[in-house]
Amino acid sequence: MDLIKITDIEVFSNHGVFREEKEKGQLFYIDLSLFTDFKKAAETDDIDKTTNYGDVCAFAYDFVAENTFDLIETVADGLAEEILVRFPSVREARVEVKKPYAPINRRFGCVSVCTSRKWHRVFLALGSNMGDKEKNIAFGISSLKNNEAIRLLKTSRLITTKPVGYAEQEDFLNGAAEIETYLEPGELLDFLKETERDCGRTKTFRWGPRVLDLDIIFFDDLVMDSDELTIPHREMHLRDFVKIPLSMIAPDFVHPILKKRVCEL
Ligand code: ADP
Ligand code: MG
Repeated sequence: MDLIKITDIEVFSNHGVFREEKEKGQLFYIDLSLFTDFKKAAETDDIDKTTNYGDVCAFAYDFVAENTFDLIETVADGLAEEILVRFPSVREARVEVKKPYAPINRRFGCVSVCTSRKWHRVFLALGSNMGDKEKNIAFGISSLKNNEAIRLLKTSRLITTKPVGYAEQEDFLNGAAEIETYLEPGELLDFLKETERDCGRTKTFRWGPRVLDLDIIFFDDLVMDSDELTIPHREMHLRDFVKIPLSMIAPDFVHPILKKRVCEL
């Protein structure tokens, strides 16, 4: 990956917890690292094929000048997110917000916060076996589309499958989707659960019927296991209703633990 850096963009603004900071304002300095691929632009010497650093600089200036937040953490994270959304060629944005005149009663050089947001490649499984199943899955898809932190890249055909684990319920409709998102795994899970609730899902038992089920199957090649979240999905390799739709959109994706392609699984 190539890198474009802009350092010490000077902005007068009013971020701060104290009333005086909000009223009087002070100087902030912004450093940006934009990870992007500019090989094509370099070969052709064409500015339209790269990220225009002048545009990013102007955008960052306006973002920091026109908003007022208590925390420079919020400034940094919000700016990183907005850069990813507005400048599609940027794959990762690292932001440092420096506050050299922060109200600290000691001699110090500078205080700053650094953060980073990047586009992750994620595969989701979608399922429904209650009510209007097609409509429920369409609701899930449109909820993904309407979130600016998510770009929907591919969706599979939907297949009808027999319930697993508990047979006394309706058949399922299942599908898979490939997305890009700058959300981290926990943030994405929260959003998926919120979408399930918005679609009318209430708590049922394990394996039980559900209006909408949205699961994270792969998240880049991340391997994680917490109380809330297991990635890759713990049972995906045992579930035909996950593997079949997934193989339609990602046959060559390699399972990061089993080291097998989806089409081999
Ligand atoms: P399932 O999808 O396995 O049928 P649920 O949808 O009821 O079951 O999910 C139960 C819990 O599983 C969720 O609240 C979530 O915290 C947890 N979970 C663990 N790993 C994942 C994952 N990869 N994707 C979605 N949920 C997960
Ligand atoms: Mg689930």
